[in-house]
Amino acid sequence: MKGIVTGLLMLLGTATALAAAPAGIPPPPPGMFAPPGRSISHVAGDLYRANNGGWFVAFLVTRDGIVLVDTLSVDFAKWLKAQLAERFPGKPVKYVIMSHSHWDHAEGGAVFADTATFIGQENMLRNMDGRYPALPGDIVDRNDDGLLDVAEFEQPFLDRLWYCGATRGSVTSKDRNGDGRATPAEFFADIVKPDIVYADRMTLRVGGKTIQLVFPGKNHANDGTAVLFTDERALFAVDFPADALVQGSMRSLPSACGPFDGHPMAEWIRSYRTLEALDFDLLLGGHGTVAFTRQDLVEGREFFEYLLREVDAAMRRGESLAQMRQSLRLDRYKDWAHYETLRIPNIEAAYHNLQTYK
Ligand SMILES: [Zn+2]
Repeated sequence: MKGIVTGLLMLLGTATALAAAPAGIPPPPPGMFAPPGRSISHVAGDLYRANNGGWFVAFLVTRDGIVLVDTLSVDFAKWLKAQLAERFPGKPVKYVIMSHSHWDHAEGGAVFADTATFIGQENMLRNMDGRYPALPGDIVDRNDDGLLDVAEFEQPFLDRLWYCGATRGSVTSKDRNGDGRATPAEFFADIVKPDIVYADRMTLRVGGKTIQLVFPGKNHANDGTAVLFTDERALFAVDFPADALVQGSMRSLPSACGPFDGHPMAEWIRSYRTLEALDFDLLLGGHGTVAFTRQDLVEGREFFEYLLREVDAAMRRGESLAQMRQSLRLDRYKDWAHYETLRIPNIEAAYHNLQTYK
């Protein structure tokens, strides 16, 4: 999701979130995001999740060391490293798999750099090469200066409070000279570049375990990796399909910032199908307080397919976007979380998506 605050958290799948409201900003409604706090929970077999509020990492403990997916922040990574040393003595973190390059999931890896090799999808290198990166929450280089400006983070946040953008602290905390903008290098200062990259799929064998890394396609991010822990029959995927609005149920409308994060809806649908085709029983997210299932993926795909069909048909009928806001009720999703708030943003996102990607 989106946004964040100074080192506190943020972003959502496409939406952002925060744990604390900046001065003058009303806090998110109760229950919109998981409460703060850190813990480690067992998933299945040798697989665990650890969380920083509503942000989750996963780790697999093997006889030869630990495979960790994501590090979230420097502060969280330090906490996790101490926890792992206490609970699993003699098991160093051997690999860090990075789910994608967005700062609220990727920061802090250097804490494990003494023992770990870092792996990510190859598009991470493009996002970290000094150019303006692909970011969530409708954060784009609006003034084309190649720098990450406070306004570019904060305006989408103010326009759709707690759903898009990010708080100014996301930039100012990294802006060393205080000019209200961060260079891409400053912005990625706390994110380790992957040592190993792959394009489509990669198999990692560690300590008798087999792990598959899968690039689903472009969706929330353009450099995402879903991680299949084959022995535990568990899939860990971050921000797609569950964005930061997802808590205990995946029946939650997408935050729909910008035209769906700048990727064609057909690519989102293809991404769902890629994950649906994998062999697993449990679906765990970088957001979401419980384990989900393949059926949740199917329902998420069906939402995108339905929305695409509805908006496409309205465009063909010659309706304007203003008319669609009234005519498209998306009634079958009225029981999903955030329906009242996100029905219209989803119609707008789909409309702009279909106008952009013809
Ligand atoms: Zn993200």
